[in-house]
Amino acid sequence: MTPFDYARARSEQDAVARVKDAGTKYLGAGTNLVDLMREGVEVPSRLVDVTRLSSRIEPTDGGGLLIGAAASNTAVAEDAAVRARYPALARAILSGASAQIRNMATVGGNILQRTRCTYFLDVEGARCNKRQPGQGCDALEGFNRGHGVLGVSPACIATHPSDMCVALAAFDAVVHIAGANGRRHVPLVDLHRLPGDTPHLETVLELGELITAVELPSQTITARSTYRKVRDRASYAFALVSVAAALEVAEGRIADVRIALGGVAPKPWRAREAEATLIGAVPGQSAFVAAAELALAGARTRPGNAFKPELARRTIVAVLSDLAGAGQ
Ligand code: SF4
Repeated sequence: MTPFDYARARSEQDAVARVKDAGTKYLGAGTNLVDLMREGVEVPSRLVDVTRLSSRIEPTDGGGLLIGAAASNTAVAEDAAVRARYPALARAILSGASAQIRNMATVGGNILQRTRCTYFLDVEGARCNKRQPGQGCDALEGFNRGHGVLGVSPACIATHPSDMCVALAAFDAVVHIAGANGRRHVPLVDLHRLPGDTPHLETVLELGELITAVELPSQTITARSTYRKVRDRASYAFALVSVAAALEVAEGRIADVRIALGGVAPKPWRAREAEATLIGAVPGQSAFVAAAELALAGARTRPGNAFKPELARRTIVAVLSDLAGAGQ
């Protein structure tokens, strides 16, 4: 591993002030970053440890929840308010990684974790536009079973690996950010960029900007939510397809619905057109199938991942059917 400097931030302001160039990285638990450093994918000259910053989970004035970026994944999944009011978030977190990793991994780090595309990780042997712009993408004609089908580009078809972020996307979560120019809030669904022809630019964060917290708005629908993850083995595997969904039915019609997808796109993928078509519909198979068709209408597949659109459609229908049944 290449030598690097280490500093522990005393405050958010202190953390931001320590970032002078792109060689400085924030260090959460390191469950992804340190792996990437061992592989030579990341070679920071300096790490600023932000694990001692806010890990509180507290109610907001608006009735929602504010989760400090240094909160562990386990702390969020076990929080009583999260479990009662945002169950899909707890389920999503608990479906990811292992208990040991969840105990270490932070919310901020989870959001900013990088793709697990094997070619991205293969510094010596593979071409990767995300790692080295303009180099090419060996996944396009290679092993792409786990790669994306929505929002992908000819330059990159990698997926964002987070489970947690899929639930956050469904819940309209807002990311709190601190930087040299002050503070700002960005909806989680707008934080990650699509690859286009610049897949190395993964988020809208500017140099030195630090994720300080994630805010969950207060909404009644989130209590009627769930998360389903389809993967090759029952634990410690990334999603082939995942669905976070919530459903609210009033007087026999769908009054509100949320659908977000994981494992299929370079970012947590909110299926807004599918949601819109369901509003006012009678909950049932035909409405759910039509919505699932719409959600995957833009899918572009490679030979290895051609199964994903149908798997995603079926998972959407199954999850919405479960939620509709649970509400009766
Ligand atoms: Fe790199 Fe993206 Fe291609 Fe994977 S899919 S090799 S991350 S450019």
